[in-house]
Amino acid sequence: MNAALPAFVEAASPHTMNTYGRLPIALSHGQGVWVWDTNGKKYLDGLGGIAVNTLGHNHPKLVPALQDQIAKIIHSSNYYHVPNQEKLAAKLVELSGLTNVFFCSTGLEANEAALKLARKFGHDKGIERPEIVVYEKAFHGRSIATLSATGNPKVQAGFGPLVEGFIRVPINHIDALEKATQGNPNVVAVFFEAIQGEGGVHPMHADYLRQVRALCDKRDWLLMIDEVQCGMGRTGKWFAHQWAGIKPDVMPLAKGLGSGVPIGAVVAGPKAAHIFQPGNHGTTFGGNPLAMRAGVETLRIMEEDGLLENAAQVGDLLRAALAHELLGLAGVKEIRGQGLMLGIELARPCGELVKRCADAGLLISVTADSVIRLVPPLILSAQEAQQIVAILVPIIKAFLAESP
Ligand SMILES: *Cc1c(COP(=O)(O)O)cnc(C)c1O
Repeated sequence: MNAALPAFVEAASPHTMNTYGRLPIALSHGQGVWVWDTNGKKYLDGLGGIAVNTLGHNHPKLVPALQDQIAKIIHSSNYYHVPNQEKLAAKLVELSGLTNVFFCSTGLEANEAALKLARKFGHDKGIERPEIVVYEKAFHGRSIATLSATGNPKVQAGFGPLVEGFIRVPINHIDALEKATQGNPNVVAVFFEAIQGEGGVHPMHADYLRQVRALCDKRDWLLMIDEVQCGMGRTGKWFAHQWAGIKPDVMPLAKGLGSGVPIGAVVAGPKAAHIFQPGNHGTTFGGNPLAMRAGVETLRIMEEDGLLENAAQVGDLLRAALAHELLGLAGVKEIRGQGLMLGIELARPCGELVKRCADAGLLISVTADSVIRLVPPLILSAQEAQQIVAILVPIIKAFLAESP
């Protein structure tokens, strides 16, 4: 056992690389927001595969659609047209108010494409060493470029030299952004998550988003909003930045877009939609027929079943119930987030709560050491939200009662 890992983490299996601190649990199947492990133990899924399983598990509309698709064609190639690429792109354009989409398979790939767009945007207007503004506590992925954009030294450690051309600023501080970029002709873009996920569920304020939008317009920068985790209806709007009434120029998506089938997308507005020309970017799996069907069906089912409204309502209820039980207790710092993306920050590291909750039949995660994160499927009912509270609150209270 690696001494740096919490006690519950089992030694890696002999043939997979030792990249994850895993719980001693293997999930075998699920139904709705419930999952069962290989020993038959049942859990309430408060994590949704980290904001991925939008429709929960074994959804009665999604499963037959995917079965139909698998029997027809799983993968073709971008050498050919994939009709559902156009269909999903048209839908994302409608929902975002932007204009064009590039498809890939993961969040980091979507962000990588965004970073390439920003650099070429600069090169196209004669900026040879373009720089991109990124944020403290940001998480954008684990490729060399996206880990360089990430604001977490733990993610970067051991992988230097980092990619250059990033300027880092604190969130929600327009003066800091102005100061960090003052007189710098090489800035081409500002890039952030509307609600930071891995960094501890930190929302960008609506007025800050509007200020950054205005600054980007004034200086001719791209506004690039990573909605990989906070997007796809999780906050009760399709995209979290829409609460501020603004539009980005570039918006990477992934996680919840395919309800569990790997898929990523970069949605771009007029300022960025025509930067890539044939030969500039591409990927083998991106936009493949299975992933596109998953995206098309996920969005269709979300609309049919009113899941944005559900995320907003049940999220409010969950947040209110947690606030009622926890706020004011010594050791509880803050409850943050929106809709079904919530973080409860404690005053001390609480990673062990992941195991305690799992033992009690609830799946959660802890991010940024001391923030309990809930990102359940968007089908969560009010009653199931109450069940989360009923399991989670006593565990937190018992933990707070222990001396650190
Ligand atoms: C998860 C995440 C990513 C990375 O996505 P992967 O699919 O793991 O590469 C990027 N940005 C944000 C905001 C994320 O939450």
